[in-house]
Amino acid sequence: MPDSKSDSQWIILKADDLIYDSVHTLPAGFNKFIEYISRKQIKASLGIIGRSLETDVTAYFDALQEIHSSGLFEIWNHGYQHLLRGRKVRGEMFDEFQNTSSEYQYDNMLKTQQLAKTKLGITLRTFGAPGNAIDDNTVKAIEQIDEIKVWLFGKPSGKLVLYRYCDIEYPTLKPDYSKFVEHYTTQRDYLVLQVHPKEWSKEDFMEFEKIIDFLLTKDVAFITPYDFYLRR
Ligand SMILES: [Zn+2]
Repeated sequence: MPDSKSDSQWIILKADDLIYDSVHTLPAGFNKFIEYISRKQIKASLGIIGRSLETDVTAYFDALQEIHSSGLFEIWNHGYQHLLRGRKVRGEMFDEFQNTSSEYQYDNMLKTQQLAKTKLGITLRTFGAPGNAIDDNTVKAIEQIDEIKVWLFGKPSGKLVLYRYCDIEYPTLKPDYSKFVEHYTTQRDYLVLQVHPKEWSKEDFMEFEKIIDFLLTKDVAFITPYDFYLRR
């Protein structure tokens, strides 16, 4: 791994929708993903849905703390409810962080920060909205939370905003090796690659593995969002 080479391209894996699973503690797809990342000795970031921490299942907290302390993963704030495509009384559509007030957005963002602190003893440093659905009120909300330093697929703000230049999943939820290779670019310093391992079939997972093996033939280094922030 060219981990110390500053001219390598940085790869940030953004795995969305980490929640509690009553059978496997973590969703089976996440267990497989985490095991794979650990085996490859690469790095990834995991977007947790805050509400999932409102449980008393200590096995869930233990699993998350173990993942965090491995140093290979960053757990980040993926909203509190993961509410998408809600409908207001007058029929207007809204998402947790789009077409809602800055107060509501701030409350939801903060709730997840506080739950992570209380239940896991972890300060979350990165935010990424459910469905990447955001508006100007998200800027107002995130600016009020100093401990968040990185905003995945965010808007220009005081945070380090990391943009989306290419994808693993075409369409969302479906890793596609040949489409990835077609869109892959070495022209960017970093790539944030969004994935949803919870939703993957065995075949989807194999596509993902092919993509990682392809990346490992390039001059890349895997990093978490907050470590990327700290290195700048
Ligand atoms: Zn999500």
